[in-house]
Amino acid sequence: MYVGIDVGGTAIKAGVVDEAGNIVARASVDSRPDSGDEMVRLMYVAMSRALGRAMLPRDRVTAVGVGSSGLCDNERGVVVYSPNIAYDNTRVREYFMERIDARIDVDNDANCAAVGEYIAFGENCGSFVFVTLGTGVGGGIIVNGRLLRGVNGGAGELGHTVLFPGGRLCGCGQRGCWEAYASVSGLIADAREKGGWFAGRPELNGRTPFEGAAEGVPEAVEVRDRWIRNVALGINNLVNIFQPDRLVIGGAVSREGETLLAPIRRFVSENAYTRGVPGIRQTEISAARLGNDAGIVGAAFLHKIK
Ligand SMILES: [Zn+2]
Repeated sequence: MYVGIDVGGTAIKAGVVDEAGNIVARASVDSRPDSGDEMVRLMYVAMSRALGRAMLPRDRVTAVGVGSSGLCDNERGVVVYSPNIAYDNTRVREYFMERIDARIDVDNDANCAAVGEYIAFGENCGSFVFVTLGTGVGGGIIVNGRLLRGVNGGAGELGHTVLFPGGRLCGCGQRGCWEAYASVSGLIADAREKGGWFAGRPELNGRTPFEGAAEGVPEAVEVRDRWIRNVALGINNLVNIFQPDRLVIGGAVSREGETLLAPIRRFVSENAYTRGVPGIRQTEISAARLGNDAGIVGAAFLHKIK
């Protein structure tokens, strides 16, 4: 059995995961983002509670994976840095190895979500790109069965590729990042800027433009379609760079299903470099399968990924 731990700024969620990728027990504890050392202790507490609920002794666990926001170094088993948690080369593997005899992996939460979806789709070779559209735009890249981590563990920051030079200010300090347009925050910003029908909706969220468009509200159709086009532009760039076997789109907005996916597939089929070449395989574009559990499942399966 494996344990996956998904560490965020407000909660630490642990799951006991079986070899088929099912979460058989889970536990959650509040984060203490002001202290990296305290966070490690709480990760262990969350794991212990989940194991207690599964009535599973520690010696039955062969692998523990930790997925955290920020920059992680899985070679050393540390979290190097996070913008929202006070990590400082925090030694996660060392803490766990003193207490449990299992393999311990530590990686970025977006990489873990990518691994989770990779496992959920039953992929075991080839290349796989996961994009999550939420408050930000993140993701992870698996090439030939290996996570692409880059020289420093910071690879896969898909959202901070620039789509519109000089454009909207991004949280990273750059202007015109894909994230500033293709995130759900970007969609809400588009709707606010549009005004009109949206101005009468103080509870505006990422679903509002889709709901309005489904009712045929012209401003909502315009905002939704422009946002989907900006998402598709970035997806098409990823297809051109990686030509992955599969590209999976996650985040709550992926629940819009074909309303979101069909225009993206159409855009890619009309614009990708390999468009129109007869008889060759093209990238499959799919909605994520695991939702919020991708981080836990992926962390638990980190040991299967090089
Ligand atoms: Zn950015």
